[in-house]
Amino acid sequence: MEKIKLGISACLLGENVRYDGGHKLDRFLTDTLGQYVEYVPVCPEVECGLPIPRESMHLEGDPDSPRLVTSKAKQDMTERMLNWAKKRVVEIEKEGLCGFVFKSDSPSSGMERIKVYNENGMPVKKGIGMFARIFMEHFPLLPVEDEGRLHDPGLRENFIERIFTLRRWREVITKRESRGNVVDFHTKHKLLILSHSPKHYQAMGKLVATAKELSIKELYQQYQTILMETLHLKTTPKKNANVLQHMMGYFKEQLSADEKQELLEVIDHSRQEYIPLIVPITLIQHYVRKYEQPYLKEQLYLNPHPLELQLRNHV
Ligand code: SF4
Repeated sequence: MEKIKLGISACLLGENVRYDGGHKLDRFLTDTLGQYVEYVPVCPEVECGLPIPRESMHLEGDPDSPRLVTSKAKQDMTERMLNWAKKRVVEIEKEGLCGFVFKSDSPSSGMERIKVYNENGMPVKKGIGMFARIFMEHFPLLPVEDEGRLHDPGLRENFIERIFTLRRWREVITKRESRGNVVDFHTKHKLLILSHSPKHYQAMGKLVATAKELSIKELYQQYQTILMETLHLKTTPKKNANVLQHMMGYFKEQLSADEKQELLEVIDHSRQEYIPLIVPITLIQHYVRKYEQPYLKEQLYLNPHPLELQLRNHV
């Protein structure tokens, strides 16, 4: 499988590009996720022409439209950064990224809760890094996260699931345009979609069922938009339990009363967060393999990303 292309703040890869000549190497991103990902590093401050080392910077003024200013000399870097960022995002289009990992807390690269100082020198954590803002406005559907948030197991799982799913969707796009390919993709992702949002599951089902009424281009565009919106919504133990019970229904005939009871208990323990989601998933996978259930065998919900990433393993 080709690696997934992800943009990343260059200092997270260990590049010595920070204002003080240092880096912010993140081992999970390089050593673990890095096995499946080809990174496209971006350092806005260096790429817009600033030296290493350089004076540190911060945001100030209106949190919705702040200025980027050096901390001591108060040199205003806003226009330089904005002009560079607007050109850079157009260049990045060619890379076919499936997402971006930003450096947290940076006035250039941070994606949320960045300090913006008012005229009295008091910070409010309401800003967005200058490059991160332009990037997210240019690619509103692309999955984005920062390395700090990726330490949260739920956010990490959600981000990784989105980038793997987007990569699979991109494979559909690169094939010959056909409604059948969209239907096939949708069929395999049905339960994954359901685990994020029953409401979107219904809407996407309708969209695919009426695919013939749309031009192929409209179908691809609408499907991709709803898909990314859906996956952005978090799964919950309750939504997962709903999907798992739905899957259990496929084994009505095969499982004994005792096996059904055991599976129900495991699903309920996962719903109550006594045990990680991977436990009921593994038990269902066992039955899928044992009874060769053809529909479930194809469901990406059971296998949305490599096991080695150890996701779905937390409570
Ligand atoms: S946070 Fe962004 S601007 Fe700062 S060093 Fe890292 S990549 Fe460069």
